[in-house]
Amino acid sequence: MPGDENDVYRKLQKHLDDMPIGYPATKSGVEIRLLKFFFTPDEAEIALLLNYQPEPLKRIFKRVKKVKDVSIERLEAILDGMLKKGSLNGGKNPTTGDKFYAAAFLAVGMFEYQVNRLTQEFVKDFEQYMEEAFIHEYKKSGVPQLRTVPIEQSVVHENLVATYDDVRKIIETRSPITVAPCICRKAKKMIGKGCDHLSETCLQFGTAAYMFKENGLGREITKDEALAILKKGEEDGLVLQPGNSQKPGWVCMCCGCCCEVLTNAKKLPNPGDVFWTNHMSSIDADKCIGCGTCVDRCPMDALRLNDDAKAEVTQSRCIGCGVCVPACPESAIKLVKRGEERIPPENNLDMYMRIMEGKAQALQKDREQAR
Ligand code: SF4
Repeated sequence: MPGDENDVYRKLQKHLDDMPIGYPATKSGVEIRLLKFFFTPDEAEIALLLNYQPEPLKRIFKRVKKVKDVSIERLEAILDGMLKKGSLNGGKNPTTGDKFYAAAFLAVGMFEYQVNRLTQEFVKDFEQYMEEAFIHEYKKSGVPQLRTVPIEQSVVHENLVATYDDVRKIIETRSPITVAPCICRKAKKMIGKGCDHLSETCLQFGTAAYMFKENGLGREITKDEALAILKKGEEDGLVLQPGNSQKPGWVCMCCGCCCEVLTNAKKLPNPGDVFWTNHMSSIDADKCIGCGTCVDRCPMDALRLNDDAKAEVTQSRCIGCGVCVPACPESAIKLVKRGEERIPPENNLDMYMRIMEGKAQALQKDREQAR
């Protein structure tokens, strides 16, 4: 019955909302339409029993068999089907061959896994959901899932960046590496928006790369190929956004016109504080000729021309991406360090724990204010 069917999706929405990157409800109910795209009612019942941390099939089966009459073989087939559809995380232990599965967040997660399944309706629903709910969820904990690091051409010699802020060093130390088409650019094109920036710019490392390769979402590439893609992305003025971890599972190369995170963050008054960047642009007013190139290139509206026709930076808006630096014909912009260094969490698990702590603190603060 339709009523019963919606119940399972609402339960799943609440289950996913309890995870580090939550899935809040909206007034419009678009989140239920998205869940119906990702899960059949049967799959939704199973997804209700998955954690965001990967678990072996046998452990999941112990929980599922208490509520569902299903064999372990059938459960494995259903989970593998969901993995192929991109509605959960999973893979195989490369040493033992044991399979593991986990619930996926909407983003980074289920959305990115739809690279081969996009439809116009889905893209419009996703866009609506991002605007209505997701960006507020994204900034709630104060610990973002992505951070911004400077492009190479923007880094001056006396201002060396730490390893976690240097995508080249990240690429050199990780394997395997896969590349996938940028889902945001592909999605926007599908609904008549989008741009002509590079398409294949989304890099994955380690476990994420295994998963992308295994499920036909990306192709394995060498370090040299990854470095060449990075170079092209930087020349193209794309913003580098690795996962907020010292060992990120992915690096996105994003444009200010299509990226769902950047376009929605741009609507905030202070994207520079949300992104955990360690850098910001600085203008040499004596060199600036007021051409406005940097103003046009900035993805966050962090630059403007002042009354003296000189470029000026709004610190709270600057995300330290550095894409304005090589664009300046007068070499009048450089990136400088911004205050206290923000060291990313050690790994993804550490990041998710810190997001949960941040959300608990935010909730406590809200309750105190409401008293
Ligand atoms: Fe000034 Fe350079 Fe910006 Fe042009 S691009 S406005 S010269 S800082």
